[in-house]
Amino acid sequence: MTRCWPGNPQAVTAMHELAICQALMEQVEAIALAERADHIVSIHLGIGPLAGVEPRLLEQAFFIARAGGIADEAELVIESLPVRVCCEQCGKITDALPARLLCGACGTWRTKLVSGDELQLAHVELIRQSAEEPAEPEAEPQARQQQLN
Ligand SMILES: [Zn+2]
Repeated sequence: MTRCWPGNPQAVTAMHELAICQALMEQVEAIALAERADHIVSIHLGIGPLAGVEPRLLEQAFFIARAGGIADEAELVIESLPVRVCCEQCGKITDALPARLLCGACGTWRTKLVSGDELQLAHVELIRQSAEEPAEPEAEPQARQQQLN
């Protein structure tokens, strides 16, 4: 394979995704440590279309970032979050298209983004194999909700 430096624009984007995955690995490793887990089974992310992250590139970067760590065999599950806007004219919150942030009720452009630009760690599935003491009750999934950016 021929390698070019300074690379193409896509390689730069992948670097961005790789940096996100490395930050993600630090976060899930900290969670695994706190839960005394041995393996991470799956990592669930919620990504809005306006987050500036390409899910396909993020998956590629994830395979690199997970190697050799506690999440070596973990699955990455990406859930696409909806774009929602709050209307400054009629006050309604409606779904919108990423490139067309119009109020779904009255059609005005005067809206504020409510959601759709987030990248969040929604859920981590862990395994604790070396169970020396009885398993503690599962923490509330909501406690795992953390913004990554
Ligand atoms: Zn409206």
